[in-house]
Amino acid sequence: MAPKHQAPRGTRDLLPGEIERWQWAEDRARGVLERYGYREIRTPLFEDYELFARTSGESSDVVQKEMYRFKDLGGRDLALRPEGTASVCRAYLEHGLGGRGRIHRLWYLGPMFRYGRPQKGRFRQFWQIGAEILGTGAPGADVEMIALFVDLFAAWGFGELAVLVNSVGTPDSRRAYGDALREWFGPVRPWLSPDSQRRLETNPLRVLDSKDARDMLIWSVGPGAWLADEEEDAFKLAVTRTYSKPKPHLLDFLDSNSSAHWDAVLAGLSALGIATEIDHGLVRGLDYYTRTAFEVHDRSLGAQSALGGGGRYDGLVETLGGPPTPGVGFSIGLDRVLLALEQRGTPLPAGPAAVFVAAMEGTRAEAAALVRRLRRVLAADWDMEERGFGAQMKAAGKSGARLLLIVGEEEWERGDVVLKDVGDGSQRPVPVATLEDVLLEALGTRPTETRAR
Ligand code: AMP
Repeated sequence: MAPKHQAPRGTRDLLPGEIERWQWAEDRARGVLERYGYREIRTPLFEDYELFARTSGESSDVVQKEMYRFKDLGGRDLALRPEGTASVCRAYLEHGLGGRGRIHRLWYLGPMFRYGRPQKGRFRQFWQIGAEILGTGAPGADVEMIALFVDLFAAWGFGELAVLVNSVGTPDSRRAYGDALREWFGPVRPWLSPDSQRRLETNPLRVLDSKDARDMLIWSVGPGAWLADEEEDAFKLAVTRTYSKPKPHLLDFLDSNSSAHWDAVLAGLSALGIATEIDHGLVRGLDYYTRTAFEVHDRSLGAQSALGGGGRYDGLVETLGGPPTPGVGFSIGLDRVLLALEQRGTPLPAGPAAVFVAAMEGTRAEAAALVRRLRRVLAADWDMEERGFGAQMKAAGKSGARLLLIVGEEEWERGDVVLKDVGDGSQRPVPVATLEDVLLEALGTRPTETRAR
């Protein structure tokens, strides 16, 4: 019989067995972020609806179709956060961080919420890890951001990943580019999806990240490769007319400052040996981006291939009523990272206890106290049910512990316990007084490394 309650559609439970991989990925990320000098920030899971509507753009998919918007009992208009950057900038302003140092490097990790159609790699509650640099418009900040982005993937064991890059310029250059797109798509307009037809009027750049199959084909593939015999003649004619003109590229519409910025970013990345590919269709889904935009994809994931992306957002803090404050950042979808790692079969050690403590009839209390003492420095397990010795040995086997401690009555009297190495079967008495040192040496680890992974 199906249980009465199930996790809401598009959400899931992360159970022991799976969670270890997440913890490992989070630990690795934390290490990289700390070495880069970023500091963690935690913001609420919900904010005023207006914060997201204003920053992401009214015409973005996130705001129009995917927002978990609700009124609380006090009638406030709130939304579960669909992304992290707007909240970080809101907090930056609210707490006057700008007055406490010119440049802030921040990172966050937590669930985000978008009401999309659930599918592989797409959830309604998903996790993002992200980083932001607020307070400098220097190209070096974009370069550091992309280097950090790539180094996180490297820490998770991804090989060489090509980073897709583009520049989305300034609102002015985007307006001019929008006009060019409108003209280019003009002949095929009636064949675009209804959403894209609408977007062509309101926000033409959004047509480029349409997920509609035909929209995508028109933009990214070209007529020769896909015009089948059964396509209508009128459509064929329209496509031919569209393709008679070269596809407009945003990079050709940049003002001179954005252009110099773009060149400096590319030069900086090249100096670091970071492989990039220019993707003229990369415009990012939210309106707040300016200049540099970047993404990483893993094509083995199918349709939901984007692992992460980011860019510069120089106008965002001002949009929220703050002083001009340039910023650049990214976010990475952890669900997809974990999916990709799993598909690659990245092996991870399970999380066995390091030591199992077995008691005799007369040493139960002593053994329990000993487990508690050992747990201050290493992972120790015991039999909570106080069963016989045979059952304890079975439990020890299941626990995966590398070492077994047998608290025998006579040995305990002498101040010893018996230490058995499960691997080679050898055993010897060791003094209780210095047990931790002996165990750590036998395990060949320092205390912090014995944490279950
Ligand atoms: P975005 O800000 O939309 O580019 O999202 C950044 C990253 O978050 C994406 O590259 C994905 O890896 C991840 N992501 C976005 N939406 C979802 C979703 N609905 N489910 C799972 N991951 C997502």
